[in-house]
Amino acid sequence: MTTEGMSIPKWGGRRAVEALNRVKAEGRRHRSPCCICGQRINYDLPSTDANGCTVQHKKSRKLFPALTWDPSNWAPAHKSCNESEGSGESGEDAGVSSFGLS
Ligand SMILES: [Zn+2]
Repeated sequence: MTTEGMSIPKWGGRRAVEALNRVKAEGRRHRSPCCICGQRINYDLPSTDANGCTVQHKKSRKLFPALTWDPSNWAPAHKSCNESEGSGESGEDAGVSSFGLS
């Protein structure tokens, strides 16, 4: 199945919250470090915390929109790392972090 040619739903909303929960659960299980800075992540912190876990797209959504919802393209990253790394797309990812709390 390919999503090419189809419109890909934008990152956000309930699906992004579910993605975050999944990344968090797996990260917690494997004690995955931040995929950007390599430091450990405290998965107990809320994703609104600068050191909390957020979903980082290993291949940027801008260049690889088809991989937006591909779990293999997700990796845990600190919120602060995620925001400083993904220039251009960080605004959206940053918005996602607060979804889980609303
Ligand atoms: Zn980090």
